[in-house]
Amino acid sequence: MSEEQAAAPTGVTMDEIVALCKRRGFVFPSSEIYGGLGSTYDYGHYGVLLKQNVKSEWWRAMLQERDDIVALDSAILQHPKVWEASGHLAGFTDPMVDCKTCKLRFRADKLEDAACGRKPSKHPGEGPDCELTDSREFNLMFETTVGPVKDSGSVAYLRPETAQGIFINFKNVLQFARRKPPFGIAQVGKSFRNEITPGNFIFRTREFEQMEMEYFTAPDQADAWYGRWIETRLNWYLDLGIRPDFLRVRPHDADELSHYSSATSDVEYLFPIGWSELEGIANRGDFDLTQHAKFSGEKLEYFDQQTGERYVPHVIEPAAGADRATLAFLVDAYDTEEVEGRKRTVLKLHPKLAPVKVAVLPLVSRDGMPERAREIFAELRPVIQAEYDEGGSIGKRYRRQDEIGTPWGVTVDGQTLEDGTVTLRDRDSLTQERVNAEGLAELLTAKLAEPWTSPKLG
Ligand code: ATP
Repeated sequence: MSEEQAAAPTGVTMDEIVALCKRRGFVFPSSEIYGGLGSTYDYGHYGVLLKQNVKSEWWRAMLQERDDIVALDSAILQHPKVWEASGHLAGFTDPMVDCKTCKLRFRADKLEDAACGRKPSKHPGEGPDCELTDSREFNLMFETTVGPVKDSGSVAYLRPETAQGIFINFKNVLQFARRKPPFGIAQVGKSFRNEITPGNFIFRTREFEQMEMEYFTAPDQADAWYGRWIETRLNWYLDLGIRPDFLRVRPHDADELSHYSSATSDVEYLFPIGWSELEGIANRGDFDLTQHAKFSGEKLEYFDQQTGERYVPHVIEPAAGADRATLAFLVDAYDTEEVEGRKRTVLKLHPKLAPVKVAVLPLVSRDGMPERAREIFAELRPVIQAEYDEGGSIGKRYRRQDEIGTPWGVTVDGQTLEDGTVTLRDRDSLTQERVNAEGLAELLTAKLAEPWTSPKLG
């Protein structure tokens, strides 16, 4: 273990994650051929598959495994009044300070000596001549203009969260999906924030994907649902293999709470940069519906025709980041070990999250093995995410699959052509067993459904 690795709380550094992501085509710096654009990233093949699996598991947990949540996909561009009503126009700001000497910009509340009510005096890489300005509030919303004429009436904003798109559709869902509280509306999509200090790879970027759900309850049920959602969301990460010691729930102090929230807890993960937010679960009360009712003139409430009961529902919001969750799964899965005197890097991802579930490999590129392997690949492909790999030595191909986290390798060898069996290699235990090529799809599907714990737990 390198010194830097030993110092990283997770035993893996962000640089190692970035390098693996680049090497294996998960994530690339964006606009690289033009020298890059700070803190924007493009997802390559395996990155797309991994993040897609993260989002699918979220959808599965929200929609398929429950019957009280419906889906929504609202527009990124919304009426500017949305952001006035939500408080984002006036209050979605971070305190910012500039260093007059280095011309660098920092979030005042994230500087080392920042404390409540005190101006920080130091910044990372500070020299003797450095001088920080007073802090100013900086609005994080990206502004754009809509239509051919640029005037003050054409200003619009790229949404900084998906949540408001949900609130403004409350009435639609209530009417057309015929829901009554408690029920939820879930949405996954891009959000944009002009972060002052983006960084740490895909942890904080200016364009990112959120997975948010607004859960509408009767006012007297909100506290109980707040507790339930914290537990439910924590368990989601645990069930997908995150090691329990690397996850914690941190309730916000009163002075940290957003203007709309009566209680918020963060699910935090121990990233290489230390404990950081993975997801926030907030009790938003009736703030959003009340505000939108006021600004739009629409009644946004629940009315029970049978009982005559009428109220503005309260809202519990679990808000997660798809990119941040993807990063946490990568960090948690990353491992290096010695196998038969050689170092291997392996992503011990939950098989459900692994970009590719099975690699089909002919032992050598001759004697009919590639042809048979391609047949098996064609049988597996419609059922399970599979990959065919013929190039290079078998050891090299196993290493490549280990690095992208493929849980199973199927090798076609001389014996396959004689008796129809293949070897099935397990990424984590490295065991190789002979199984019938026929029925492989069913065998692997069954394995995928089995409970799983991280082999890093020992
Ligand atoms: P932070 O304190 O890290 O800025 P936040 O409290 O502002 O996060 P929320 O508004 O609660 O974040 O957003 C919900 C989730 O969206 C976060 O928990 C995080 O996973 C994700 N998220 C927020 N901002 C970013 C960003 N700039 N880049 C990537 N993911 C983000």
